[in-house]
Amino acid sequence: MIERRLFREDHNEFRDVVRKFIDREIAPHHARWEKDGIVPRELWLKAGEAGLLCCTVPEQYGGLGLDYLFDVVVFEEMARSGYTGPGFMIHCDLVATYVGSFGTEEQKRRWLPKMVSGEAIGSLGMTEPHAGSDLKNIRTRAVRDGDDFVINGQKVFISNGQSCDVLVLATRTSSGDKEGGITLFLVDAALPGFIRGKNLEKLGLKAQDTSELFFEDLRVPASAMLGAEGMGFPLMRQKLAQERLAQAIRSATVAETVIEWTLEYTTQRKAFDKTIGDFQNTQFKLAELKTEAVVGRVFTDECIARFMAGELDEIDAAMAKMWLSNMHCKVVDECLQLFGGWGYMWDYPIARAYADARIIKIAGGSIEIMKHIIGRSLLRGERARSA
Ligand SMILES: Cc1cc2nc3c(=O)[nH]c(=O)nc-3n(C[C@H](O)[C@H](O)[C@H](O)COP(=O)(O)OP(=O)(O)OC[C@H]3O[C@@H](n4cnc5c(N)ncnc54)[C@H](O)[C@@H]3O)c2cc1C
Repeated sequence: MIERRLFREDHNEFRDVVRKFIDREIAPHHARWEKDGIVPRELWLKAGEAGLLCCTVPEQYGGLGLDYLFDVVVFEEMARSGYTGPGFMIHCDLVATYVGSFGTEEQKRRWLPKMVSGEAIGSLGMTEPHAGSDLKNIRTRAVRDGDDFVINGQKVFISNGQSCDVLVLATRTSSGDKEGGITLFLVDAALPGFIRGKNLEKLGLKAQDTSELFFEDLRVPASAMLGAEGMGFPLMRQKLAQERLAQAIRSATVAETVIEWTLEYTTQRKAFDKTIGDFQNTQFKLAELKTEAVVGRVFTDECIARFMAGELDEIDAAMAKMWLSNMHCKVVDECLQLFGGWGYMWDYPIARAYADARIIKIAGGSIEIMKHIIGRSLLRGERARSA
C-alpha cells in the first residue's frame, strides 16, 4: 500500500493530541449537540487552549506559527472521528486565513489572537437566498456614509452563524460591474443591526449551526473593510483553491474511515452461516472502494504538497473537490449498504456519515461549478493552441 510521506514526527505527535482531545471533549457530548443543533462555546475555548485552532497564525498574533500540515491534522482527525459539530474548518481555514492574508495590522491584532484562543468564532457570509453559485449577483448593500459604511441585506446557510463573533461579509458597494462592485468587510457580530435568524434544520451536520443572518442599518467603520473597495471578488477567488483542498481532505479521510468501519462490521456480522465479508460481492465492493480511496488520497496529498509550495492552481483544486466529493458520497452509500438495516440507524456512525456526506457535492462550489471551471480551462487552452 502506498504510504503517506507528508507528515513528520511532530505532526504525528500532534495527531495523538487531537485524537485524545476528540475522545475526551467531543465524543461524549456530540449526540446532545446534535439535538441542540449547536456546539457550546466552552468547546471552542477548550480547543483553543489545546492548540487546535488556527495553527498557522504567526506568533505575533497569538498563534503558534506552525505549518499548514498541523491544520490538516485537525481537519483529518475531525473527519476521521465522524463528529461534524465543531465548525473548525471554516473558522481556521477560511476566516482566519482571510484575516491573515488580507487584513490590516489592526484587524489582525484585534481578531486573530481571539480566534486562536476560541474566544472569537469566525464565519463566512457569502451566500444569499437568491445567489449561491452565482455570487456576482449578491444584493447585500454597503453604502458609504462619511467614515462609515451602512449595510443592509441578508445571508443564508451561514455555518457558525449562530455562534460567530466575527463575520467575513461579502457586500455590494457599487451597482456597475457586478464582479468589480463586491467588497468584503470584517464585521463584529456584536454591532447593532447584526441580526441572527433561524438556526436552520438540516439533513446532516446536525450539531453544526447554520443560519440566516440579517443586516439592518448595520454601521461599520471603513476600517472594517477587508482589502480594498471593489476587490472582494478577486480576494475570494484567491482563497478558493485552499477552501476546495480542505473539502478534498475531508472527503479523502471520511472515505478511508468508513471503509475501516465496514471491514470491521462485515467480518463480524453473519448471514447464511457466513460473515458478510465472506461473500464475494462484499470483497469486490470493498476492493473497488478501497482502490478509489487510495487514488483519492494520493491526489489529495499531492495537492496539499503543491498548496504548501504555493503551486496549487484553481483547476487542480477544482478537480480534487469534484472527484473526491463524488467518491466520498459513493463510498459512504455503498458501505452503508453492507451494514444492511443497522446502517440506517443513527446509533451507527455510518448513518451519520451518510447524512453528513451529501453537502460536500453542494457547498463551497458545487460539483457542477467545478466541472464548469475545469471544462472552461480545457476549452480556453484548446482555443489558445489553435489560434
Ligand atoms: C450546510 C451548508 C453550509 C453552508 N455554509 C456556508 C457558509 O458558511 N457560508 C456561505 O457563504 N455559504 C454557505 N453555504 C452555501 C453554499 O456554498 C451554497 O449552497 C452553494 O454555493 C450553492 O448555492 P445555492 O444553494 O444557491 O444553489 P444554486 O446556486 O441555486 O444551484 C442550484 C443547482 O444548480 C446548479 N448550477 C448553478 N449554476 C450552474 C451553472 N453555471 N452550470 C451548471 N449548474 C449550475 C448547482 O450546481 C446546483 O446543483 C452552505 C450551504 C449549506 C447547505
